[in-house]
Amino acid sequence: MEYSSIVEVYEEISSTTKRLEITEYLRRLFEKTPKEIIDKVVYLTQGKLYPDYYGIELGIAEKLAVKAIALASGATEKSVAEELNRLGDIGEVASLFIGKKSQVTLFREPLTVKRVYETLDKIAKATGEGSQDLKIKLLSSLLSDATPAEAKYIVRTVTGRLRLGVADMTILDGLAEAFCGSKDFRPELERAYNLTSDLGMVAKAVSEKGLEGIKNFRISVGKPIRPMLAERLSSVEEILLKVGGRCVAEYKYDGERLQAHKIQDKVLLFSRRLENITHHYPDACELIKSNVKASEAIVECECVAVNVDTGEMMPFQELMHRRRKYDIEEAMKLYPVSLFMFDLLYVDGEDYTVKPYLERRKRLEEIVEESERIKLSKAIITSDIKELEKFFEEAVEAGCEGLMIKSVSPDSIYKAGARGWLWIKYKRDYQALLTDTVDLVAVGAFHGRGKRAGTYGALLMAVYDKKNDVFKTVCKLGSGFTDEDLAKLPTMFKELIIPHKHPRVDSEVEADVWFVPKIVLEVIGAEITLSPIHTACKNIVREGSGLAIRFPRFTGKYRDDKAAEDATTEEEILEMYQRQLKKIEA
Ligand code: AMP
Repeated sequence: MEYSSIVEVYEEISSTTKRLEITEYLRRLFEKTPKEIIDKVVYLTQGKLYPDYYGIELGIAEKLAVKAIALASGATEKSVAEELNRLGDIGEVASLFIGKKSQVTLFREPLTVKRVYETLDKIAKATGEGSQDLKIKLLSSLLSDATPAEAKYIVRTVTGRLRLGVADMTILDGLAEAFCGSKDFRPELERAYNLTSDLGMVAKAVSEKGLEGIKNFRISVGKPIRPMLAERLSSVEEILLKVGGRCVAEYKYDGERLQAHKIQDKVLLFSRRLENITHHYPDACELIKSNVKASEAIVECECVAVNVDTGEMMPFQELMHRRRKYDIEEAMKLYPVSLFMFDLLYVDGEDYTVKPYLERRKRLEEIVEESERIKLSKAIITSDIKELEKFFEEAVEAGCEGLMIKSVSPDSIYKAGARGWLWIKYKRDYQALLTDTVDLVAVGAFHGRGKRAGTYGALLMAVYDKKNDVFKTVCKLGSGFTDEDLAKLPTMFKELIIPHKHPRVDSEVEADVWFVPKIVLEVIGAEITLSPIHTACKNIVREGSGLAIRFPRFTGKYRDDKAAEDATTEEEILEMYQRQLKKIEA
């Protein structure tokens, strides 16, 4: 098949935005494509060479493309670069220069799809010393034999800028029309796609055998499954109604979704967008390998950054330090992670996606051996609004975004690739609303572990209630301390330790060690939230709840100049909370 026949379709697609027309162009393209290469044609049309999870990406720098265009057309690099500045689209530039050149070329070997694909593949896979030159050479050899229109699409593809705007679903529509006789069969094709995440593979199967070809598509370990997604509602009442009055509510952890495939002693990790991200998380792989008790399994979990010393959950931004190519070992030490398992899709030959949620969860509980760093997502089954609200506060308190509410109905299967009402997220959007620091009194502490053994892992901090002359807790403070700070904490508090809670301290949290309220530290937090465990402003905003500072961090300032009674007061915290609510509403 000649590459020009694909290019003609690309030109047609580019001239319309109507989905029906695009589908029709694709149908014709697929019908005339030889079956052996239809997968490649599908990938090319998406601007790719493989499904995303292969991790082989096109996207050479424009600079290299400029060189290749110059080489193929005989123009100077400078003139090509100038045109790029003027036109802004490297594809148009390629077309222009190859057009100028082709007026003097008499013989041209027509480009085949196979040759274009194979050359692009070589370009994508070239690495190491000399690879830049090789890429330029390979690209310019293609361009030398290209028509201006072909040059445009080759260069757009190789620089990762094809952007025809053809959605996955439109490709499926085109395939359904071409090989099943009607778009009505798209759901069947979609199912095959959801299970394999590989449009090329679906195209090949359906072009060879029609619907029969995909009927037997099954989940296979090693191929990512398109993830199930959640709808969103902003009131617990609505959510409960929507899921039929009874649900599983789970902590919605604030990390990165991982789809882990365990194949004997090998583990592959896929992101929510189905990229292969195994190399980012060797520690997560180890956890899955050792604590998921099955030979083969596909499980889903949220991977969350935790504080090196205290093990407490950290905000999502911290996890982004793990998204690096180099120094992974070092990042693993600085930014350790915990895994919270929330679904099971497959285990030892059995497809679990077709089973209702409670059955999946039960089996997940059986095969996951919990440890400090790998746990099941925290969950309750409830039909009670109050209980849900309380659970939401606990989740936020623990560093989560909110709750995932899941249907427990018999049809609560794992709907791959679908956003639906079987899962509903309930969260508030948090912004860094607390710009002011607060001065808090240490009223107790928790023993440190690991690197913090021998000192404190966290301090229990309080605000002052002037009216009743008591100190009420607002947070556990474990972040922001330097090694030096940590080393001196025990001496600093030594004289203040008492064997029981101080009579002027109002706390529902049980500290390991209690202090006489005296030492004041400056703290900055992300925001103030409702809290089921802290006593500051208890029952003022909501019956049964207090207020807490979320993600508190020591600024480094010991407020020796302040007595405990000079600390931030309960009223001030309430005012800050109300101001913050106004900001959210605004
Ligand atoms: P969102 O990204 O806001 O649409 O929320 C959905 C995401 O929440 C999922 O893709 C998961 O990464 C994440 N998540 C965290 N905890 C859970 C849980 N217990 N169940 C399902 N998803 C969860």
